[in-house]
Amino acid sequence: MTIPPAISIRDIRKTYAGAKGQPGKEALKGVSFDVPEGEIFGLLGPNGAGKSTLINILAGLVNKTGGSAEIWGFDIDEQRRNASRSIGIVPQEIVFDPFFTPFEVLENQGGFYGITKALRRSEELLEAVRLSDKRDAYARTLSGGMKRRLMVAKAMVHSPPILVLDEPTAGVDVELRKQLWDLVTQLNDDGVTIVLTTHYLEEAEELCDQIAIINHGELIAKKPTRELIEMAREKIVRVTVDRDLAGPIMEPGFSKAELIDPRVLEITYDRDQASAGQVLLKIQEHGYTIEDVTTREPDLEDVFVQLTSAA
Ligand code: ADP
Ligand code: MG
Repeated sequence: MTIPPAISIRDIRKTYAGAKGQPGKEALKGVSFDVPEGEIFGLLGPNGAGKSTLINILAGLVNKTGGSAEIWGFDIDEQRRNASRSIGIVPQEIVFDPFFTPFEVLENQGGFYGITKALRRSEELLEAVRLSDKRDAYARTLSGGMKRRLMVAKAMVHSPPILVLDEPTAGVDVELRKQLWDLVTQLNDDGVTIVLTTHYLEEAEELCDQIAIINHGELIAKKPTRELIEMAREKIVRVTVDRDLAGPIMEPGFSKAELIDPRVLEITYDRDQASAGQVLLKIQEHGYTIEDVTTREPDLEDVFVQLTSAA
């Protein structure tokens, strides 16, 4: 038996209307993919790629121009209510009424979903996002990180099986980012399917089981994170030689040569066209003796640059 996907997106299109006399902006050009249940799924793309547009269509905040989507098996047009009940969304922008306390924010949201007082989980959610001690503080007195965590709790009030976070760690410091990662991991361990948009590749590499990359409104890759990183064709070798280099050494098969130091040369090469051994041989042919060699494995950043700069 195959498990149906948590989210299924089919040929989603969005053209924003242009200002008077101006052409519209085609933000999504027919995007299709599935998010499997139980995963942490990364949606990556440069600024303006269309990530938030896609999330906001799922959230019911933006009307799509074409295509269809199902959330937890519910069509977002035909079964909007059930679709909405199956997903919690943490938007890119933080917005709170500054005069409510965290407890009240969650209670109000529970009321919005028609959850009776007895069935609300406000205390439990505050505990989960480590805000119990701020239960009765004004939301405006919370730090940025606390507000983010409160947003996550608010998105989970109706216990949706899917949580979507749009750039949850944009502009937050390292420590807070770590806290949010822990929270996301913990929710996922509890069975929540997570969709995360980010432009921090390190974050996607660390957290996500699978990654979809969109660029200019089109899906350009979707693979398990490991496989995506293995797509990197380029390898990098850094070589220290016995004397100052006259300049970078460029040879056929090298895609980049850079002087890092007078005696240190970094060569980027296409692994289909050269090997580390050939690179070293070429350098020796120029009359240098090699004193040290280090290689760097490509990471998600390399793949991302490779894929997004091709378009
Ligand atoms: P991302 O979240 O990946 O940075 P967005 O979905 O926010 O990208 O934006 C995709 C494209 O659509 C961008 O070119 C952006 O300027 C445009 N866009 C987004 N929202 C609107 C809007 N309300 N009206 C017109 N254009 C918009
Ligand atoms: Mg965005």
